[in-house]
Amino acid sequence: MSLPSATELVERATALLVGWRVVDTRIAVVWNDKLTTTAGRAFQRAGRIELNPTLLARAPDQLPMVLVHEAAHIAAFRLFGANIPAHGRHWRSLMRLAGQEPAVTHDIPVDDLRPAAARARRVRRSYVYLRVCDSCGDRQLLDALRYGRCAGCDARDSFLVMKAPASSAGRAALSQLSLAQVRAAFD
Ligand SMILES: [Zn+2]
Ligand SMILES: [Zn+2]
Repeated sequence: MSLPSATELVERATALLVGWRVVDTRIAVVWNDKLTTTAGRAFQRAGRIELNPTLLARAPDQLPMVLVHEAAHIAAFRLFGANIPAHGRHWRSLMRLAGQEPAVTHDIPVDDLRPAAARARRVRRSYVYLRVCDSCGDRQLLDALRYGRCAGCDARDSFLVMKAPASSAGRAALSQLSLAQVRAAFD
């Protein structure tokens, strides 16, 4: 599956901004092959989104979510200004309006650590989730994703979720992620 062109992504991102009733719909979207662990990032003031072609070629089903995620950062900045939490209620409401689950999960591509034969045999996969509170850093490794209030700080809307296959490699990869790495994945 080939990745869409930057031109097509600009069209999609512009349509998102129009849908969110953002007056200034100028936006740039580029593929940046220098990105490593981050699927995408948004430069709010510049109105620019950079996407990771390596990660998204491995998981093209994630592209719509990542594009909406980053476009919602730019829309939130234009609608509500700079002094809002990155993944707080403003951003979450834009995600919902665009039909995306606002408590986003980020797949980390640990599949590549497994032998190809094992990947081919796998029919249904189950996942393990690392749920990190962006407010207090509380972290939970969960076999089933649950939201609700953070045990550490009582916040409801601050969860960042990383998802990996429920294998020992997946668990190890999630366990090793630092809070800074999780936050960086959601830039
Ligand atoms: Zn917390
Ligand atoms: Zn983000």
